[in-house]
Amino acid sequence: MQKPVIACLDLEGVLVPEIWINVALKTGIEALKITTREMPDYDKLMKQRLAILDRHHLKIGDIQDVIDKMGPLEGATDFIRWLRERCQVIILSDTFYQFALPLMRQLGYPTLFCNQLKIDASGRIENYHMRMQNQKKHSVAAFKSLNFFTMAAGDAYNDTAMLGEADAGVFFRPPDHLPKEFPQFPVTQTYSELQERFAKAGNLK
Ligand SMILES: [Mg+2]
Repeated sequence: MQKPVIACLDLEGVLVPEIWINVALKTGIEALKITTREMPDYDKLMKQRLAILDRHHLKIGDIQDVIDKMGPLEGATDFIRWLRERCQVIILSDTFYQFALPLMRQLGYPTLFCNQLKIDASGRIENYHMRMQNQKKHSVAAFKSLNFFTMAAGDAYNDTAMLGEADAGVFFRPPDHLPKEFPQFPVTQTYSELQERFAKAGNLK
């Protein structure tokens, strides 16, 4: 008998826009555009981001307002609905619950595994806490050990271990250089292409 299917999806770049880049655009704070590409040390980058928010007196509510207006990517809500009718869906993201909340509301609250921000009574973001290292890969490995057939989709470097661990890993709108480095993962550009890949791999009707 076929195993039940779990689809694991990255969040930013697959279902919603890049959160920090859009916060930078919408607040006009240039320094928030810096990503792990320019500053590979994630801890240093996050400390810098939180210091910038402090300097501009931005509280969690201000950031959530910006994120709320971003909305999911066009077609993402319908795609999630289609997928959830056919298999179990888990979103695996390196973002934070408090940032993702307004977007999860718009996506119909799918299951999300991510990280937490420490916020004080005034709404100031004090610190951040990563639940564990490499959670995307470990989550997929855990689902496999629970005897699920696993499928995964992501767009960036931090997804490649998850795609490699999954029974079927697929790129969704990756930057040009990535499929050259990881030619083993098929590339999709639209939700209908991704649906087709998942339907075939997971034998979804
Ligand atoms: Mg991404």
